[in-house]
Amino acid sequence: MKIVETVAEVREQVKAWRQEGLSVGLVPTMGYLHEGHQSLIDRAVAENDRVVVSVFVNPMQFGVGEDLESYPRDMDRDAALCEKAGADLIFHPEPSEMYPQDFSSFVDMSTLTGGLCGKTRPIHFRGVCTVVSKLFNIVTPDRAYFGQKDAQQLAVIRHMVHDLSYGIEIVGCPIIREEDGLAKSSRNTYLNPQERQAALILSQSLAEGKKRLETGEKNADKIRQAIVDQIETEPLAKIDYVEVVDWNNLEPVQTIQGPVLVAIAVYIGKTRLIDNVIQQ
Ligand code: AMP
Repeated sequence: MKIVETVAEVREQVKAWRQEGLSVGLVPTMGYLHEGHQSLIDRAVAENDRVVVSVFVNPMQFGVGEDLESYPRDMDRDAALCEKAGADLIFHPEPSEMYPQDFSSFVDMSTLTGGLCGKTRPIHFRGVCTVVSKLFNIVTPDRAYFGQKDAQQLAVIRHMVHDLSYGIEIVGCPIIREEDGLAKSSRNTYLNPQERQAALILSQSLAEGKKRLETGEKNADKIRQAIVDQIETEPLAKIDYVEVVDWNNLEPVQTIQGPVLVAIAVYIGKTRLIDNVIQQ
C-alpha cells in the first residue's frame, strides 16, 4: 500500500491501474479511522480491483468555532488500518494541495442542504460537495462509498452525482455501532466517561422512534415528540434537532407514507453527535 500527498501521484497510479483494465473504488474520510470507516473499505475491497482511501480533514466544511483544529488525527494508525483492510493507496494531501492560494471555485446545492445539519452548519455542505467533487475528479473512481451515519451527506452526494452527471456509483453503507448502541464516530473521543454514558441517549431514543415506526405509527410528530421526550431525560444532552423527513427529498413529513429518515443531532456537553434511522 502506498501513501501519497499530491494529486499528480494519485493520477499517475490510477492511470497505471486503468491501463491494466482494473476497477477503482474510493472511500473518502477525514481520518482517525474506526470500524465504521473500515466497513466502507471492506466493501470497497470486495467490489473493486483497487481501493483508494482519502484521509483529509477538509477545512472548507468546518464553520467558525467548530472543531477543525482539535479534530483527532493519527496517520500511522490510519495507515495500519487501511493496509490491514486491503486498501491499495492512501491519498493524504495537505490543505494547500487541495486549496492553493488562488482557489476560487465551489460546488453548492440549492436543495437538500437547508435543513437538518445544514441549519446549524450553513457552509458545511458546500465544503463537502466541493471536496468530494475534487476527489472524484482526482481519483475518477468507478464506485465511491459513504456511510448512512451521515445520512444527509449521502443524500447530498447522490444528488450531486445525478445533477453533475458523474459516472460514479454511490454505495451507501449501514451504520456501525459500539456494542452498547452508540454510533461509531471519530468525535466520540471527545467524550469523558460520564458523557460517553450520556451519549447512549441518541441510539436509545432512536430505537424508541423506530419501534413506533415499525408498529405502524403514521403521525410523524408523535414519533418526533417521543424521541424529544426521551432525550430530555438526559441532563447532559441538548437537542440541536430531531426531524422526521422524506428520505427522497429531506423535506419534513406530517404523515408517514414512503421512505423516511429520522435524524437527530444532540450536544453531549460540548460534543455534537448525530445519528439516524431510515425506514424504507
Ligand atoms: P468521516 O471521516 O467522519 O468524514 O467519515 C467518512 C465516511 O465514513 C463517511 O461516509 C461516513 O458516513 C462514514 N462513517 C463514519 N462513521 C460511520 C459509522 N459508524 N458507520 C458507517 N459509516 C461511517
